Order: sequence, then structure tokens, then C-alpha cells
Amino acid sequence: MTETTIYDDSDADLSVLEGATVAMIGYGNQGRSQALNLRDSGVEVVVGNRGDEYRERIEDDGFEALSIADAAERGDVICLLIPDEVAPDVFDAEIEPGLEEGNTVYVSHGYNLTYDLLQPPETTDVVLVAPRMGGWAVRELYESGEGFPSVLAVEQDYTGDAKAIALAMAKGIGSTQAGVVEGTADMETKIDLLSEQALLPIMMAAMTTKFEVEVAHGIPPEIVMSELYLSYEMAEIFEEMAERGYLGQLPFHSRTSQYGQLSRFDQFDAEPLREFYEEQLQGIDNGSFAREWSAEQDLDRPGLKRLYKKYRESAFFEAERETMERLDFGAEDGT
Ligand code: NDP
Repeated sequence: MTETTIYDDSDADLSVLEGATVAMIGYGNQGRSQALNLRDSGVEVVVGNRGDEYRERIEDDGFEALSIADAAERGDVICLLIPDEVAPDVFDAEIEPGLEEGNTVYVSHGYNLTYDLLQPPETTDVVLVAPRMGGWAVRELYESGEGFPSVLAVEQDYTGDAKAIALAMAKGIGSTQAGVVEGTADMETKIDLLSEQALLPIMMAAMTTKFEVEVAHGIPPEIVMSELYLSYEMAEIFEEMAERGYLGQLPFHSRTSQYGQLSRFDQFDAEPLREFYEEQLQGIDNGSFAREWSAEQDLDRPGLKRLYKKYRESAFFEAERETMERLDFGAEDGT
């Protein structure tokens, strides 16, 4: 197994950012939370925005709202927190012209670096701090003082200070409180994409197949659906797993459940799953998924639209919708 370092608060020094301006490009999910956390940590932050109705929100939060180009020019650390699909074009057109020697380009996902879609100048530092959390949790866990784990990577160290800057940013957003794991952008891309392309599809396949089997055996879809994830029981189990570990939370289940889970896990043939993981990892490694996704975006995502349509009309998601309506339970349909 490859070893790594986990950094905490004592490894990071916020004074590295004293006198520096962080330009937050993007004020969405991650951008807003990271900007608020950095400011509360005493870091000077300006926000770059494309000048639409969201500018008001930035100003209401008390930040100076600039054009993306002006923010990039002002910033010493330029945080690229806009959707990964648009980041390379925005970077080339509006950010790179304003970069100065010794600036830091900061990202929270490795995708564009891994696939060379983003190529910051050699005279800049390039760092990644990738929270393993959505933006709302990044803010909430900062405010509660708990912090949240992130992956940290230094991809380019022009100044010799890139690691110190990355650690200071990680501390400023509140991540070193929980622990920051050192890796590379490639590793972060891999774990993220493999969760998206294998782990979650396997989980969805496991649940839709369970649904098909149980419905075929005469169990009403509403009963099946409420056992899956609509009752939040699964969400609670996962929350306990994060708190106590899988085995640590198992005693909260009945003895029948404990024996059922462990004995069948022990018997389960995971070989086909391993093959599926390996296959997806190969597509991530050799760039074939990235090429497929770029081509899909160039055509305005016909494949993604077709898949949404197909699954919206499937028996499983129809049952999900109906059960949610009839139980008056669960959140709205986000699709
Ligand atoms: P969002 O989709 O929430 O970002 C929206 C922001 O990007 C808004 O400020 C929006 O501006 C701006 N934006 C969108 N399109 C453009 C464009 N064409 N030109 C200029 N600005 C644009 O992104 P996330 O916060 O989800 O993701 C940001 C980064 O963080 C990504 O690299 C992502 O992979 C990473 N990340 C995301 C996580 C998550 O949970 N979402 C978790 C960890 C990392 P406007 O307000 O004007 O529309």
C-alpha cells in the first residue's frame, strides 16, 4: 500500500496568506462556502463573477464583486471554482491574461489537470484542495468547528512555497481541523470518477434489481421503495458508518440483521464487481471517458438527455415518484 501524509491545523500556517488576496472565481456550491470560510479565517477575498443577477448575492454577503478578469488580475491565489466543464475556456480567455509570475492557481477537483484541459503557465504554482463534501457542508462544518477531510496536492511548485500556500488555504477553508490527506490531482480525479462511474452505478443497480425481484414476487412497489432509501433509514446507516465505521455501527441493527449482513457479505461473489471497477478505471486512466464526455458536451449532451428520459420513464423511478407523492415524504425531484 502507498503511504501518505495527513496534515492537521498544526501543519498549516495562515500567515502565509497575510497581505495576499484570494480571488474566488465562481460563487456557487463550493465558491461561496470557501469564500465565507476564508474570510472568517482572516483572509482577504474578492469574488469574480460574470456579471449576472448573482452579483447581488455576492455583495449582500459583503464581498467586493469584480469581473472574472479583474478578480484574476487582483488575486495572488486564484481559485477556479466554476463548473469543470466551463473552467478551461474561462481560464484561457479571462484568467490567464491577468496572471502574474508567482501567483497560485487553486482548484478543488483534479479533472481538468489530469486531462491537460487546464494548463496554467509554468511561472505559477498550481495546487488542489478538494473537500470530500458538498458546499453546504463545507460551510456548516467550518461554522461548527468540526472541519471536513480534503485531498491536497501540489501540482506545480514554481515559488517553492506551493505546499505552504495549499496548507494555508486548506486551513482557511476549515479542512485541516479534520485532516487533509496528501495526494495528487490524478488520484483525486480517479477516486472521484470511480465513485461516480462504478460505485454509485453498482449501488443503483443493486437497488433497482432488488426492486425488480421483490415486485416480481408480488410485493407492492410502495413497500419496496420505502425500504430502499426513501425512509432515510439507509441515509442514517451511512451516517453511522461515517461516525463509527461499518462494524462499529452494526450492533445498532438487530442480531438477525447483523448475522444476515455479515454472513451474506462473506458469501458474496465480488469478482464481477472487481472486473467492472477495473474496466471503468481503465477508461478513466486512458482518457477514453474524458474524450467521450468532451464529445458529448460538444453536441449539447444528447446522451445525458436521452438517459434522463429513459430513466424518468422507467418502472423504478415511476414507483419512486409515486411513493414520494403518496407518502408525502422525501425531497422534491431534483432532475
Ligand atoms: P457550481 O456549479 O456550484 O458553480 C457555479 C458557479 O460557477 C457560479 O458562480 C456560476 O456563476 C459560475 N459559472 C457557471 N458557468 C460559468 C461560466 N460559463 N462562466 C463563468 N462563471 C460560470 O460549481 P461547484 O461549486 O459545484 O464546483 C466548483 C468546483 O468545485 C468544481 O471544480 C467541482 O468539481 C469542485 N467540487 C465540487 C463539489 C460539490 O459538491 N459540488 C465537491 C468538491 C469539489 P453564476 O452565479 O453567474 O451562474
